[in-house]
Amino acid sequence: MNCFECDQQGQPVVAVAVCSVCGAGVCATHVRTEAKQLRQPAHPGKVMHERPARQLTCPTCRVAEEAV
Ligand SMILES: [Zn+2]
Ligand SMILES: [Zn+2]
Repeated sequence: MNCFECDQQGQPVVAVAVCSVCGAGVCATHVRTEAKQLRQPAHPGKVMHERPARQLTCPTCRVAEEAV
């Protein structure tokens, strides 16, 4: 699969990830990595046990999520 963003610009670049929102392929340049806490943050003084989940998105979906 090729990067959707690069493909739009006429450049076939192999995708290294898949956007978790729209499912488009994204290359290393276009992939957006975000650490998401799946649960509510623990109260102060409490030890966090949950590790943040990784979410990979394309630039388009990243912008859309930030605009909320
Ligand atoms: Zn790309
Ligand atoms: Zn996307």
